[in-house]
Amino acid sequence: MTDRRRFLQASLLAAGAAAVPRLRAASASNGARVVSTWDFGVGANRAAWKVLGSGGSALDAVEAGARWAESDLCNPTVGRCGNPDRDGVLTLDASIMDGDGRCGAVAALEDIAHPVSVARAVMEKTPHVMLVGAGAQQFAVAQGFEKTPLLTDQARQAWREWLKTSRYAPQINAERQARPGDKTNHDTLGILAIDANGRLAGACTTSGMAWKLHGRVGDSPIVGAGLYVDNEVGAATASGVGEEMVRNAASFLVVELMRQGRSPADACREAIDRVVRKRPEASKTLQVCFLAMNKAGEVGAFALHRGFVYAMQDGSPGPHDRLHDSASVYQTEQT
Ligand code: ASP
Repeated sequence: MTDRRRFLQASLLAAGAAAVPRLRAASASNGARVVSTWDFGVGANRAAWKVLGSGGSALDAVEAGARWAESDLCNPTVGRCGNPDRDGVLTLDASIMDGDGRCGAVAALEDIAHPVSVARAVMEKTPHVMLVGAGAQQFAVAQGFEKTPLLTDQARQAWREWLKTSRYAPQINAERQARPGDKTNHDTLGILAIDANGRLAGACTTSGMAWKLHGRVGDSPIVGAGLYVDNEVGAATASGVGEEMVRNAASFLVVELMRQGRSPADACREAIDRVVRKRPEASKTLQVCFLAMNKAGEVGAFALHRGFVYAMQDGSPGPHDRLHDSASVYQTEQT
């Protein structure tokens, strides 16, 4: 079977399995809802729900969720516990966006524990959208953020192990591997929320691809690539090998597809199909995942490879910690 036919067949299977969860907007809290990427999205949602569930804004909620992930000492792909670049330096990327188009981001930020909050300060206290590297750190310190060495012993140890081969080879669904010292080398917390007033917001935070070139910036801090929010339509975020999201302005694409009437799941699927069409060979070996929510609170996701999960919290009775499986193009989980 040709690769094209195999791909089409896999796409049809995934679509037919329209197990693509389309979660309706009705919720226990006036429509408020939060969704987050990966297993660690459960903890992020809990932190966000403390804000949303008491009537707080979507913007405050996504910042709270992202801060939780950045503090999680078990997570080698986000925040203070992240794995470093190939020079052993931990650099953090983050963005935050409101549904009215306000946004802020930081990239390649060192030694500041909460990049998402620095991104919010960029949004609220400067005329700019993004600060990078030493300038981002200088701004953060001037805003009162503490400068503190972040690289953990576990991350340093994982880097020393990596140096033995020095091979840069992103793995599919790395987050679902074990913890520090294992093969984990990328994944991002992307979080989207709608509040009781129907306002949307999103945030994205990551240590990026482990063992990346020093100075590499992924999709997560790039508005339109790793995150996009528009109150008129909905919001989208991404995880996976960020170069693919940047090539396709992918989160913006997902939102624009929803604007044209696609459901969140269909919009995510079309964005994934574009990744495959542009780079059919590469797409077999790397993971790309999209998560979207429209202004009615419907949620959908789609991934290149099986294994992408997301968490949702809307305050309705029942277990809130259940993870939802995303449909995917390729059906074999390659971990
Ligand atoms: N998208 C992130 C980056 O490219 C990594 C990930 O989500 O796996 O930096």
